[in-house]
Amino acid sequence: MKTKIIKINPEKLEISKVKIAAETLRKGGLVAFPTETVYGLGADALNSEAIKKIFEAKGRPIDNPLIVHIADKKEVYRLAREVPREAEKLINKFWPGPLTIILKKSNIVSDIITAGLDSVAIRMPNNKIALTLIKKSKVPIVAPSANLSGKPSPTMAEHVIQDLYGKIEIIIDGGETDIGVESTVLDLTTNPPTLLRPGGVDLEKLKKVLGKIKIYPMVKGKQIKKIAVKSPGMKYRHYAPNAKVILVEGKYERVKNKIQELTDKYKKKGKKIAIMTTNKNYNYKTGVIKFIGKDCDVIAKNLFKTFREFDKEKVDLIIAEGVSDNGLGLAVMNRLRKASYKIICI
Ligand code: AMP
Ligand code: MG
Repeated sequence: MKTKIIKINPEKLEISKVKIAAETLRKGGLVAFPTETVYGLGADALNSEAIKKIFEAKGRPIDNPLIVHIADKKEVYRLAREVPREAEKLINKFWPGPLTIILKKSNIVSDIITAGLDSVAIRMPNNKIALTLIKKSKVPIVAPSANLSGKPSPTMAEHVIQDLYGKIEIIIDGGETDIGVESTVLDLTTNPPTLLRPGGVDLEKLKKVLGKIKIYPMVKGKQIKKIAVKSPGMKYRHYAPNAKVILVEGKYERVKNKIQELTDKYKKKGKKIAIMTTNKNYNYKTGVIKFIGKDCDVIAKNLFKTFREFDKEKVDLIIAEGVSDNGLGLAVMNRLRKASYKIICI
């Protein structure tokens, strides 16, 4: 298939270009588009054949449900059969924005979207191109991240091209995404609500609105195989570059020393090592070293991009410094932990 790349400047949005993409969605085609979190791969949420193509293009396991994206808050009442008071509070405060809520699904939501679950994940993205595209297509749009399943999520059109060129109809290039990690996923079908995936809206902010929130065990740990899988997408290894990732967590001095020790050890074995550091004045002596930011919002924005850059440089091993679990740090650590094959806590 020939993939069309459409460049759109979000500051000077040309409606005619968005309309071409919306028409493709209406005809059952796939369109990758920017959101404020990462690039999404969209299909008409009311067209099962189109949705199946998403799973094929991404190589996504069919038991991993999709998030439905909307451009009008009222759509929630069509997609969910119950909208509790807490949901309305969250919608008013955080939409459009990087928060996905899970509600009991209505009849118009097909099993292929929800992987057979009785609930549906819904979000309204905060990105002009995304919102206009959804509005013009006049249907809700399912959109997982626009990467091959298991790979780092795309934060630039170039990443989507690397993974999906030739497999989908259109890629909209709307520049780099703002946040860089995916939306927070919050299950409102449980009491208290459950945080299933940390993301762009941090837990502290949600707690201010809701009070108590349960944290799903997999959020902080790696993949715990034995616990019941509530959000099926979370059981897979995710976000991972081709190189193996080792994450080192703990007090900074000790982390730094451990990373130097590991670098020396693997270098002797002839491996090409990369280090992801959060300290601008790092003093690691060997390896391809990238400073990815000190504050969590900057780290979040750079994380997936840096993984892909290291892959381009064909490194064998990426050693990453851990960050604190506060604020966006929880989302960053969740992605790092899931991407890594080994976690060292010292
Ligand atoms: P992605 O499309 O890559 O952003 O991933 C979507 C995430 O939302 C995955 O972790 C899914 O498991 C989760 N998700 C989608 N729908 C549901 C649902 N009905 N219940 C629980 N988790 C869901
Ligand atoms: Mg994804």
